[in-house]
Amino acid sequence: MEILARELRGSGFEVVLQPVRIRGVDQHNLVAWAGPAVEGGLILSGHVDTVPCLDQPGWTCEPFGMTVDGDRMFGRGVADMKGFIAQCLAAVREVNTAALTRPVVLALTAEEEVGCSGAELLAPALGEVLGDVPVPRLCWIGEPTTWAVYQAHKGIVQVRIAVHGAGGHSSLPHQGVNAIAIAGRVVEAVGQVQAELREPVESMVDLFAQAPCTTFNIGTIHGGTAANMIAERCDLTLSYRPLPDDDTDADPLDPFRRLTERLALVDLADHGGGDGRASIVIGEPEVVPPLHSPADTPLARALEAVVGESPRGGLPYATDGGRFAQAGLDVLICGPGDLDQAHQPNESLSTAAFEKGPDVIRAVIKDLCEGGE
Ligand SMILES: [Zn+2]
Repeated sequence: MEILARELRGSGFEVVLQPVRIRGVDQHNLVAWAGPAVEGGLILSGHVDTVPCLDQPGWTCEPFGMTVDGDRMFGRGVADMKGFIAQCLAAVREVNTAALTRPVVLALTAEEEVGCSGAELLAPALGEVLGDVPVPRLCWIGEPTTWAVYQAHKGIVQVRIAVHGAGGHSSLPHQGVNAIAIAGRVVEAVGQVQAELREPVESMVDLFAQAPCTTFNIGTIHGGTAANMIAERCDLTLSYRPLPDDDTDADPLDPFRRLTERLALVDLADHGGGDGRASIVIGEPEVVPPLHSPADTPLARALEAVVGESPRGGLPYATDGGRFAQAGLDVLICGPGDLDQAHQPNESLSTAAFEKGPDVIRAVIKDLCEGGE
């Protein structure tokens, strides 16, 4: 972030680093802006973190140093999404900031890959950071889409559930309560909610053709110690992907409440147990909100003019966009990387897609932030 701050100051931008403490680690978001303190303008956004790679099998190139081989560039984050940030830097270097008639803002976030946590703290603080400059309503996030444009995605909500039983010798099951046995009922309860919600939501079919409903996944289950011991505890993690609403005020926690009600009905007695009862502890849900922005904004028209794509619906992954939308921004997702390269070993980006980026971004800035209306 310090390197980016230096670079952006060199291009005539005001820069503020926002200190944030996320899961016990001190980090920074970055906001940079240029242009007059008037309404309108554009926010360019990207996250600077990446998913890990050191323990990821399949890497044959150096993940932390970019290499170019043939018509592709390789390295962790080239597609998701440092490539776009580099393009933004190159683009704004060419901007005559004195000639801007509306503000250009860069909002670069930390810690997107785990819970969009940097944006969670940055989005509501944008107004304060920008001071006199009104927060531009239009926000462009360059996540990998092969330059296609998307205006929506589902959210993701993670839930931890712990079943506490009572341990003991397996020869005397009536003296304990087997947590795994009760966890089986928890799994079934999740399945029932999943079944209730799998009807296609008519209004979402256009956005999410493959799965126009809230989907669930039980991700992990860990319980017990040995075959001859009563399992004292069983932990599950699950996630679901809530749909946005037509008017964007769908509550992504509705499915969580439905699940909580269902879990309250679970029989806590173990078939082999005595009078003891298990307890089910449901953790605080971690929510990344969905996104559903209008498809007919000036940014959509500016992008269409340069990349020839208009907003086509819902992305299969969540982004910082849900956080920015909660702060009132209209967000479009469009970037140089390929969807299927994100999080992969030997992550790569087409050199052609990289090289055309600065011109694409410059053209959009010119359209939205230079000249008259
Ligand atoms: Zn990303």
